[in-house]
Amino acid sequence: MSLMPATQIPLGGPDLPQQRRLVTELPGPRSAEILARKADAVPSGVGHTVPVAAVAAGGGIVVDADGNALIDLGSGIAVTSVGNAHPKVAAAIAAQAAQFTHTCFMISPYESYIAVAEALNRLTPGAFAKKTALFNSGAEAVENAIKIARKYTGRAAVAAFDHGYHGRTNLTMALTAKAMPYKSGFGPFAPEIYRAPMSYPFRDGLTGPQAAERAITQLEKQVGADNLAAVIIEPIQGEGGFIVPADGFLNRIQDWCRANGIVFIADEVQTGFARTGRMFASEIFGIEPDLVTTAKGIAAGLPLAAVTGRAEIMDASHPGGLGGTYGGNPIACAAALAAIDIFENDGVIERAQQIGALLKGRLTAIQAQDARIGDIRGHGAMIAVEFVDPQTGAPDAALTAAVARACIAQGVIILTCGTFGNIIRFLPPLSIGDALLNEGIDILTAALAAQ
Ligand code: PMP
Repeated sequence: MSLMPATQIPLGGPDLPQQRRLVTELPGPRSAEILARKADAVPSGVGHTVPVAAVAAGGGIVVDADGNALIDLGSGIAVTSVGNAHPKVAAAIAAQAAQFTHTCFMISPYESYIAVAEALNRLTPGAFAKKTALFNSGAEAVENAIKIARKYTGRAAVAAFDHGYHGRTNLTMALTAKAMPYKSGFGPFAPEIYRAPMSYPFRDGLTGPQAAERAITQLEKQVGADNLAAVIIEPIQGEGGFIVPADGFLNRIQDWCRANGIVFIADEVQTGFARTGRMFASEIFGIEPDLVTTAKGIAAGLPLAAVTGRAEIMDASHPGGLGGTYGGNPIACAAALAAIDIFENDGVIERAQQIGALLKGRLTAIQAQDARIGDIRGHGAMIAVEFVDPQTGAPDAALTAAVARACIAQGVIILTCGTFGNIIRFLPPLSIGDALLNEGIDILTAALAAQ
């Protein structure tokens, strides 16, 4: 494995050495001081995974306030895919900030918003005529996709799936499956949301068509196809455990939606923009959703989100029905145009594929020696390991948390996920080099062996 692959994209940040370096225990004294202020000033509901205060980041490194350099295997939850503070993005942000920071697109439109919409209309799957509206967060994009689907169909019901995650606003909490920590005590939730069983090959053993029939039968019996405005699904589930549905599952659900006038929405907030080794994960499965929601990787860390879809559906809303003060902010749009240029022209998609091959190769070798790794799955730079009790196959959340904690203590930013809390997920920035990736996996291997 080469240290600097040919497609290595330019490192971001203030010329950060691409090396893990621990000069204190974590947190060091300066981070500890800042985190103590956090405890006083910020509610405990806003948690954090890594006990350091970040001061710089780029390539595959996050530097903290004490000068520790951590390996970044999380990208701030799949956001800094092109690399943190990528020079082209930073320059675009600075140039736009010097011109104007805000007019409100609904008051005085500007070209960059329109250019982002054109790019998304071109890049998302499907050759049909499309339109795009911009928002601030993934949850806001999902809310708007549901609004649009309801307006278009004149129907109320919406189906989401087991293990699904769609956000933390009221409607998106209702769409999200997991109670703790996302929903518990925060109800009542928006009505007319129904849940269908997901295809989870490692746990249900069903083929894609079998799992689709199970979901469709349940929706037909419990909701009625005629009442459904939309079905929303993540092509590969993120927070729920990087669950990759069995082949044919998504295609059958899409066909059923088409046959019944139901808007088929792919939530690509986590999977979009090169993350899975394709520009969009829908391409892996050959689906062409009616609407696609995007956010995260789209603008390299600036808050931006989008709903893109069939022009006739997107145009269903009356004028003034969609929008928001900040949606499609000009600085976020400048960042997105720079990021999209990098995604299209700087070998980022190929790099995601290389990262996936490296991670899967290393993890499969560990699995051969360790039956606690029940499953390795994912595409591109969105790879997960599911930890189980080798005897029963039961999820092992305690082992997962212990391994993640040990990695973080060694300066490797590792994220967990999953309905059962037994998944470690890898979402490195696509600007990370092989040496850091390999070192991160070495540390994980040692942490697992020590448990
Ligand atoms: N949908 C999916 C699939 C997500 O992964 C997320 C964020 N993890 C969201 C929606 C919500 O996005 P945001 O946090 O930007 O509101």
